[in-house]
Amino acid sequence: MNEKKTIYLDNNATTQVAPEVVEAMVPFLSHYWGNPSSAYEFGHRVMKPLESARRRVAELINCDPREIVFTSCGTESNNAAIHSSTALSPGKRHIVTTAVEHSAILNFCKFLKQGGCEVTCLPVEPDGSLDLHLLEKALRPDTAIVSVMWANNETGVIFPVEEISAICRSKGVLFHTDAIQVPGKLPIDVREVGMDFLSLSGHKLHAPKGIGVLYIKRGLKFQPYIIGGHQERGRRGGTENVAGIVAFGRAAELAMERMREERPRILALRAQIEEGILGSIPDSIRNGGRDTRLSNTSNIGFEGVEAEAVLMMLDQAGICASSGSACTTGSLEPSHVLTAMGIRPSYARGSVRFSLGACNTQEDVDYLLEVLPGIIRRLRGESPIAPPSHETPQVEFAEES
Ligand SMILES: *Cc1c(COP(=O)(O)O)cnc(C)c1O
Repeated sequence: MNEKKTIYLDNNATTQVAPEVVEAMVPFLSHYWGNPSSAYEFGHRVMKPLESARRRVAELINCDPREIVFTSCGTESNNAAIHSSTALSPGKRHIVTTAVEHSAILNFCKFLKQGGCEVTCLPVEPDGSLDLHLLEKALRPDTAIVSVMWANNETGVIFPVEEISAICRSKGVLFHTDAIQVPGKLPIDVREVGMDFLSLSGHKLHAPKGIGVLYIKRGLKFQPYIIGGHQERGRRGGTENVAGIVAFGRAAELAMERMREERPRILALRAQIEEGILGSIPDSIRNGGRDTRLSNTSNIGFEGVEAEAVLMMLDQAGICASSGSACTTGSLEPSHVLTAMGIRPSYARGSVRFSLGACNTQEDVDYLLEVLPGIIRRLRGESPIAPPSHETPQVEFAEES
């Protein structure tokens, strides 16, 4: 009951499952627990909600429901797209990606390299953007697939997927995009962009962990990554995660409904964070171009401090943030994304990501801006180190009475 109030500013790592989503999935854990592939009515009756969830996800990205394959997570979707492309074209063993992808792409490519694939990892500019001429030049007759994320999870930098897609099409190369950070933040229209594969992950859009989506363009030959039963039209074996799929469908619906009002609200909070921090803390910089980023993400470098120390002190104040992605935390190396951008090591090592979401309020931002300058000053040795506080942070901004 006496739970410490947590200010969660790490929504790119995961998001709270929306109460509406919990409500939608519970019946499929309690009453309707049949196997959709069973011949009898008790199993088969979960088929309809499953297909209606598929339609909602298709609507979120503007595709045909038959182009949606449910997977176990974003990592699986990313792996599956690249796996299929390399497995189906034995003569094409070359993959093009970028130096700032998530480890779910980079480490899978590293693995394929051991099996004889060649990987070109494109560099990025200091603002995190990609030089499309370099991309074009990297494409070869034996290139199987290009995988470029739609938006970066660490900096929020958005990549021009429509142009990338056009370049790939003109060279007859498949294009996959990791769009896991995008739903609810930018409109997604796969028909307009024309990519061949797109990955999504439930827990980044207020559905639970353990459910992902891979969009596979109609007519494309596909080699399953998980081989088993005939589920998902033979494209992904394994009994369907019915509750997870229903949850994803509801979350997709909510993302569509709420984006229009959430985006400006989050943008305004983010602007306050950046103006507040950069204006009050000397030797701090924003990582990533100013205007080509997701609305919710702010990655800020503080010279001369260790990000891990900042995060620890923020944690003591009840604030969750991160350095790098959650998947690489723990290594003391500066983030591969910031390194690829050429951020000076003295800033990269002290870089912290704040990522906003539906749960965040004005009070959260006010509180962050209240405690952060003192933390940085203390870590820089500009003011005495206060003993760590285990007290509940004061986050109530009650009216004077
Ligand atoms: C979170 C994330 C992933 C991994 O998704 P999981 O569902 O956790 O496997 C991949 N790419 C990006 C950009 C992400 O943010």
